Amino acid sequence: MADILIIGSGGVGSVVAHKCAQAKRDEGAFGKITLASRTLARCKQVAQSVKERLGVDIATTTVDANDVDALCRLLDSCKPTLVLNIALPYQDLTIMDACLKCGVHYLDTANYEPPETAHFEYKWQWAYRERFAKAGLCALLGSGFDPGVTNVFAAYVVKHALDEVHVLDIIDCNAGDHGQPFATNFNPEINIREVTARGRYWERGEWVETDPLAWSMDYTFPEGIGEKKCFLMYHEELESLVQNLPGIRRARFWMTFSQNYLNHLRVLEDVGMTRIDPVSFQGHDIVPVQFLAKLLPDPASLGPLTRGKTCIGNRMQGLSKGKERTVYIYNICDHEACYAEVGSQAISYTTGVPAMVGAKMLVQGTWLKPGVHNMEEMDPDPFLADLAKYGLPWTCVDL
Ligand code: NDP
Repeated sequence: MADILIIGSGGVGSVVAHKCAQAKRDEGAFGKITLASRTLARCKQVAQSVKERLGVDIATTTVDANDVDALCRLLDSCKPTLVLNIALPYQDLTIMDACLKCGVHYLDTANYEPPETAHFEYKWQWAYRERFAKAGLCALLGSGFDPGVTNVFAAYVVKHALDEVHVLDIIDCNAGDHGQPFATNFNPEINIREVTARGRYWERGEWVETDPLAWSMDYTFPEGIGEKKCFLMYHEELESLVQNLPGIRRARFWMTFSQNYLNHLRVLEDVGMTRIDPVSFQGHDIVPVQFLAKLLPDPASLGPLTRGKTCIGNRMQGLSKGKERTVYIYNICDHEACYAEVGSQAISYTTGVPAMVGAKMLVQGTWLKPGVHNMEEMDPDPFLADLAKYGLPWTCVDL
């Protein structure tokens, strides 16, 4: 049984810890589980919840994941087979460096982003391909829901439904309501940087840019969710999917936002509160979006407040045996059911479960390929079987 180290004990890290403990208890998927982040108290709180809900002990410790030497000391002491990076995108490269130095496999849920520029791209992590391959180590990138399950959904459709994919629309709907005037459902700083960035989609071999949230469409979601307005955004899985889907002509990503969320965001932008550059205030440099993140509700605190469902999936159009075919593959997840199970809302849950399943695929050898890989490069079937088994059932229908 492989020992694992989870770094980050926020909203998502907590779900990852619970689901890894469940897979350890139910099928011996993991050995010792260690949870580390900068704040020990939060790790201990998660460990206590895991013990109470699942009867599994997990070890806790502190680490600053920006510090490669500190990470290596931790890896040398707990000797894990795999690190699950569930901290922030800023830590991806330091954790990958430490994994290479110490001979440990790597997994994350979000691609690297330099703190000083609101710009994410895989180039920084893809630059590690040769080093990971030479070391016989695997780095699995983006094992959350989107990116993550959406990439695996795409691979599933290519394997089982379409010979050629011409159009991909990834549609992320959070139809939940937390009753707060304004809150983000994952890390506020990362969320606001993503949502305020320019939109981008792939059309006939090139990227086309739009103003932030300038394009929208109404989409009718299944299973009682109904019609919602969805906004075009750039999302990281598009970058690898346009390279890995045969025949792709158009790829877009859409997300629902309430009018209330958009109104608050516009005011915050207008007054400069979403700025990511330091501003001198009373003798100190502060970054407005980081200060704002401190004031907003902690996403982990939204669990008991959120009602409703999420629906995230891919609408894919292309050719099957020479004929036009459109399929929709999606998961529906209920906020309250997630809270009852692990004490978290559905956004953390839908990210944490695939992180655990990706880790299971690696430590069991099913997906263990040296190098740096995106999820659609792997066989989707074993992953999707476990995804359903561990709380995220999915449906694929013809439209
Ligand atoms: P939170 O802010 O709730 O948690 C982040 C955690 O990272 C905290 O425990 C924090 O620890 C820890 N952390 C931050 N900096 C460091 C550091 N230098 N060293 C060690 N630990 C650190 O974020 P979420 O849980 O909401 O999100 C976690 C990740 O999941 C993010 O990268 C996010 O982008 C990604 N995500 C991916 C999704 C997907 O579908 N692929 C969807 C949603 C999120 P401390 O509090 O101790 O500082």
